[in-house]
Amino acid sequence: MKKIQMVDLQTQYQHIKKDIDTVIQEVIDSCQFINGPAVRQFQEALEKYLGVRHVIPCANGTDALQVSMMALDLQPGDEVITASFTFIATAEVIALLKLTPVLVDVDPDIFNIDPVAIERAITPKTKAIVPVHLFGQSADMEAIMAIARKHNLYVIEDNCQAIGADYIFSDGSRKKAGTIGHIGCTSFFPSKNLGCYGDGGSILTDDDVLAQKLRSIVNHGMVVRYYHDMVGVNSRLDSIQAAVLKTKLQHLDEYARKRNTAASYYDNAFRNHPKIKIPARFPHSTHVFHQYTMILHEGVDRKGLIDYLASKEIPAMIYYPVPLHLQKAYIDPRYKEGDFPVTEAISHQVISLPMHTELSEEQLKHITTSVLEFLNK
Ligand SMILES: *Cc1c(COP(=O)(O)O)cnc(C)c1O
Repeated sequence: MKKIQMVDLQTQYQHIKKDIDTVIQEVIDSCQFINGPAVRQFQEALEKYLGVRHVIPCANGTDALQVSMMALDLQPGDEVITASFTFIATAEVIALLKLTPVLVDVDPDIFNIDPVAIERAITPKTKAIVPVHLFGQSADMEAIMAIARKHNLYVIEDNCQAIGADYIFSDGSRKKAGTIGHIGCTSFFPSKNLGCYGDGGSILTDDDVLAQKLRSIVNHGMVVRYYHDMVGVNSRLDSIQAAVLKTKLQHLDEYARKRNTAASYYDNAFRNHPKIKIPARFPHSTHVFHQYTMILHEGVDRKGLIDYLASKEIPAMIYYPVPLHLQKAYIDPRYKEGDFPVTEAISHQVISLPMHTELSEEQLKHITTSVLEFLNK
């Protein structure tokens, strides 16, 4: 049996090696490393796939979030509401721009930001909401957009983990996650569902005026070359990464199916087990399983399980062990331990199992059998 990894990029590459090597060589032959034709081709392919008017490629998902907040003219002191249970990037750019992060708790089943908690956190200083579509399914965008309309707020979707997921509205219509708010952000970090071979990201919007501003900010605030109308940054997706992404985008739906197949295998093995809660599906979103993250019930020795799995050469991870308000760099007198009971509880109970496009049945069997061996001991 092949060694089990959290994400197996080598095997995935072997399946598409011929195409990838060809397109990378084409970029090298052209020597158009920055803003070559591959960037525009990928941009257009992604616009079509997502059904969004504008994709603005940039250097990574964190920049996508930062540039979005700059384009919306958020000012120091403006409050931005986001989830307390997430990857650090969201809070980081809020802090860098000297905005005020306002954290709210998440839903205990879906792990995504709780719309009721959002509404309670709104003050006259609130300017934007940043829902994070964690682990591969969309947050409750219909409820979030209704709150945003009512209070005149911007919504920036952090879609770094759920590219390709469909949001399903109450009337049955669908839109891709990341294309519902005013702006959406994606990351093409190698281990993401659509990952390149380095760093990459993009910003999504249907708004023509905003798109032009975003495009200018990622390029030093330029519209006309060497005329700088606003303060910008240097945040580009390079041509080699765009060529890789253009190739991999053609496989994105097939990759999501493979991730779902692995998730179903895990579900079937663990469903009804008294010590495990399998990941709940939000009825208004399809799931693209960036992570398969389950809850271990009270009393299960999580570290013991991780060590046992390691002894069987099975990796497992904790996403995320420390909530934002308890991270050293973000200690804030407004918040203390106990303020976000759901986030704090689940950060002690979650465990993520290997999840990628190349898991074999033999590997899945070894993983599930080993988990059950430990829990049934
Ligand atoms: C990966 C990730 C980011 C940051 O993306 P980078 O490309 O690594 O900068 C932001 N938010 C979430 C939720 C992520 O998972």
